[in-house]
Amino acid sequence: MSDYRPETICVQGGYTPGNGEPRQIPIIQSTTFKYATSEDMGKLFDLEASGYFYTRLQNPTNDAVAAKISQLEGGTAAMLTSSGQAANFYAVFNIAGCGDHVVASSTIYGGTYNLFHVTMKRMGVEFTFVEPDCSEEELEAAFRPNTKAVFGETIANPALTVLDIEKFAHAAHAHGVPLIVDNTFATPVNCRPFDWGADIVTHSTTKYMDGHGAGVGGCIVDSGKFDWLAHADKFPGLTTPDESYHGITYAEKFGLGGAFITKCTAQLMRDFGSIQSPQNAFLLNLGLESLHVRMPRHCENALAVARYLKESPKISFVTYPGLEGDRYYALAQKYMPHGTCGVVSFGFRGGRMAAETFMKHLKLAAIETHVADARTCVLHPASATHRQMNDQELAAAGITPDLVRLSCGIEHADDLIEDIRQALEAV
Ligand SMILES: *Cc1c(COP(=O)(O)O)cnc(C)c1O
Repeated sequence: MSDYRPETICVQGGYTPGNGEPRQIPIIQSTTFKYATSEDMGKLFDLEASGYFYTRLQNPTNDAVAAKISQLEGGTAAMLTSSGQAANFYAVFNIAGCGDHVVASSTIYGGTYNLFHVTMKRMGVEFTFVEPDCSEEELEAAFRPNTKAVFGETIANPALTVLDIEKFAHAAHAHGVPLIVDNTFATPVNCRPFDWGADIVTHSTTKYMDGHGAGVGGCIVDSGKFDWLAHADKFPGLTTPDESYHGITYAEKFGLGGAFITKCTAQLMRDFGSIQSPQNAFLLNLGLESLHVRMPRHCENALAVARYLKESPKISFVTYPGLEGDRYYALAQKYMPHGTCGVVSFGFRGGRMAAETFMKHLKLAAIETHVADARTCVLHPASATHRQMNDQELAAAGITPDLVRLSCGIEHADDLIEDIRQALEAV
């Protein structure tokens, strides 16, 4: 299936029914699975045989949907998680523990910033945040002997900076560590980070992949390209025996293609249990079936809206990487020539008050803590998702007090622009 084009994988990837089997991915709504003998089951616990035994570890519905996302990204293995937060936590914690260090782009999603800067710091993992458009020298200076990974977002939420994936991958590999890219906003329809040197990709499937505001979820995909054994001293969790799994060495037993995800499932999902429900995985798959049809419309609408806003005298700035003249236009053209995402950020000459007045007068665009939905929605990050940040941290994340984040849905662009026009009149 991986040989097919993304459009075909969106519709048919991950699941090929046999004779007389359900055409749609069945929802295996079962916590557990039956075996004839204790020996049979023992082999599963030893990771000697593969098979299902408890849905916290693996479930056939989840695995089929994860396989589709893996094919879309061009990866070798993938797993679903209960949320994007869980996906990013697992992806990093799988290789960086107490006493380790990670380099991350400063413009990442507020929830991820908090996870790294507050919660994981408390667990003993230190982060150095760098500007996404820092020079190679500045990036180089952020590394330490105990650095275990580099992290960034293809298109940052909500700053809409574009990650120079090649630059970050190059720096990571020069230091013998993988690049983890959160590809939530671009989706594999618009960008495949593995093609540019990223090693691990994460998703909040809550966004475009689901696309209908129906289920919170996440996904981790491994490219299978990072050679853990070549940097064995940095990644003992993958290259030395796991005593909690009868002395298995993941990188040896499961190879480069399977080690990362197997360890992540066997250890982190086993112990933390942030599993996606099979019902949600089924809904996620329905979203994936039309991802390739929806993404171009999200992008078209966002570009039309960005161009309209750019002409308004009440608007002080418009940020959209797909808009000619945007600071990240060139990088977006390089990494996402067919479109970026549906999210546009902009500010008001009248400041924070003007932003709030504008939002109050919108009729089609609903105020929501959400993006990447089929329905247009709008948010004021400084008073919602990013309110835990002080002004300095806000500025580092690329957010001003008057910034409004508009997530263009897949309605008709003219109706969205008409809604914006009448709300601007009230400002
Ligand atoms: C929303 C989001 C997350 C967090 O995902 P949840 O599914 O809400 O837990 C992580 N990264 C990015 C880029 C996001 O937009």
